[in-house]
Amino acid sequence: MRETEVAVIGGGVVGCAVLYALARRGVAGTLLEAEPALALGASGTNSGILHTGFDSAPGELETRLILRSAELRDEVLDGLGVPVLRCGAVLRPGSDAEQATVRALAENAARNGVAVTVGADGALSVPGEAVTDPVAYTLALAGAAAGAGARVRTGARVEAITRDGDAFVLDVGGSSPLRCAVAINCAGLFADDVARLAGDGDFAIRPRKGEFFVFDAPGGRALERILLPVPTKRTKGVLVFPTLDGNVVAGPTAYDQDDKDDWTVRDDAAGEVLPKARAMLPALEGAKPVFRYAGLRPAGRDGVNYAIGPSPRCPGLVHVAAIRSTGLSASLGIAEHVVGIVGGLGVALGADRPLAPGPLPPASEPWWQRAAHHRGLA
Ligand SMILES: Cc1cc2nc3c(=O)[nH]c(=O)nc-3n(C[C@H](O)[C@H](O)[C@H](O)COP(=O)(O)OP(=O)(O)OC[C@H]3O[C@@H](n4cnc5c(N)ncnc54)[C@H](O)[C@@H]3O)c2cc1C
Repeated sequence: MRETEVAVIGGGVVGCAVLYALARRGVAGTLLEAEPALALGASGTNSGILHTGFDSAPGELETRLILRSAELRDEVLDGLGVPVLRCGAVLRPGSDAEQATVRALAENAARNGVAVTVGADGALSVPGEAVTDPVAYTLALAGAAAGAGARVRTGARVEAITRDGDAFVLDVGGSSPLRCAVAINCAGLFADDVARLAGDGDFAIRPRKGEFFVFDAPGGRALERILLPVPTKRTKGVLVFPTLDGNVVAGPTAYDQDDKDDWTVRDDAAGEVLPKARAMLPALEGAKPVFRYAGLRPAGRDGVNYAIGPSPRCPGLVHVAAIRSTGLSASLGIAEHVVGIVGGLGVALGADRPLAPGPLPPASEPWWQRAAHHRGLA
């Protein structure tokens, strides 16, 4: 039996950010990831955008954590050498109704303290929006934590959780169990299943699929800014964004499904994405996608979003669940918040200190191909 004070279940961006934030406070936890590598779930199949929170609902936990992340971001990412394209975003309204939405968004941004400008043509510019490589980002956090003494175990699926006095024992498929005082459930799509292993069935997660199409840069010219659509209540909509390696990506869709293992791109997705993308970037007219991938957002059922806090039924278990649409952007804020909860459970925290880059090797292929290749989908 191995022992650790704090176990983190799930090696997406949220779990890795929590491991990192704990290590900054002198707590060397152990992260258990079911897959053979980190960031193969939503964290490696998203849009890679570091949102400013300009369009988020003021006062909500999600918004507060995005805004806090934005404050923490530069020091952490620059310190760890995470690549970031600080390109900004632009949102061009079409109809009068969209112009009104843009004005409302500008007011919303002001309430959140996020700098935006509205041009004479009605376009909204958000200079702080940026693009990263979400896999490099996640690996950098885990690597820095590992460099500070944390353990990262991949191929380590938590299959059972039992109480043992004041501690938990986590049964890990195919290897030794782990005994811990505090367990943090960052299992993304499967956070409800992990909660049920501990007798807690208070929330449910449903996948919301987002499908993307990757293009070579039209005419060999890199896209200078993120092109945002006017959002709806349900989704931020189809955007067009540059990647750090010079491609252009269009997506995502928002398709609710029940199967947590279906990562395919539906036949309908092209019709849902490509006309909107071409309307925003006419240079994509006639261009053929060079790749496609899908991500599954871990969406809470019944509107549950950012379900973060101690389990009501299982003392010592902390859920960080239903981080649906903004977990990359909010990850540093989420992690700081979770470390505060862990401190409240009696784990001794040291002074906060920056960490140096750690020993995890980078991924060997572009992030937007990696998860689809892993699942044999491309
Ligand atoms: C289409 C799409 C577009 C998005 N765009 C953006 C964006 O531009 N900007 C942004 O900020 N956010 C974006 N998001 C949201 C962001 O990707 C998520 O909020 C974030 O990745 C959630 O991270 P996570 O760590 O909670 O989940 P995940 O990345 O899913 O990680 C959970 C991990 O837990 C592991 N796991 C599950 N069960 C177990 C178990 N029993 N034992 C051990 N490990 C287990 C899984 O294998 C997985 O690796 C997008 C998401 C999608 C899908």
